[in-house]
Amino acid sequence: MNQKALILQPKQTNETLNPMAGTRTFTMIKPDAFEAGNAGAILKMIEAAGFKIVALKATRLSPALAGKFYEVHSERPFYKDLCNYMSSGAIIAAILEKENAVEDFRTLIGATNPANAAEGTIRKIFAKSIEANAVHGSDSDENAAIEGSFFFNQYERVL
Ligand code: ADP
Ligand code: MG
Repeated sequence: MNQKALILQPKQTNETLNPMAGTRTFTMIKPDAFEAGNAGAILKMIEAAGFKIVALKATRLSPALAGKFYEVHSERPFYKDLCNYMSSGAIIAAILEKENAVEDFRTLIGATNPANAAEGTIRKIFAKSIEANAVHGSDSDENAAIEGSFFFNQYERVL
């Protein structure tokens, strides 16, 4: 296959989607935190907790793309509001690497509702509400691979 064909049709095997299963997770810094100027402080906490950034971009989701990303929640009463909120401003998307990445990152960000989040967690410090809760974190290795590939092709991340 020539180089052009490779770029047009990147190979998407389990290995390219998640080359080191169990060691990567996906995160977004959500519009509330980005708008408040907290992206740098949050990335600093992420690195201080031992995560390496292996892909990173600032972008903005359309309502349709936010709807696709959160499709699993389409039956939940907050789905429409969530899609509007997630497309209301710029976000940062990133793939992070660490041993036990998914679970350790969920611990670092804290509970969905900042009122229930442990002291010192990212959501406790930065979240404004249960909806505008500063950060996303994948809930499984499988979803981490799917979500990372939603935002980054294989040439936009450290392999
Ligand atoms: P988490 O982000 O902690 O994995 P969920 O996957 O359950 O939480 O929900 C996805 C996102 O939807 C949350 O991060 C939050 O922004 C929003 N959300 C969840 N529950 C509610 C709710 N009860 N009301 C409004 N928004 C919510
Ligand atoms: Mg979730």
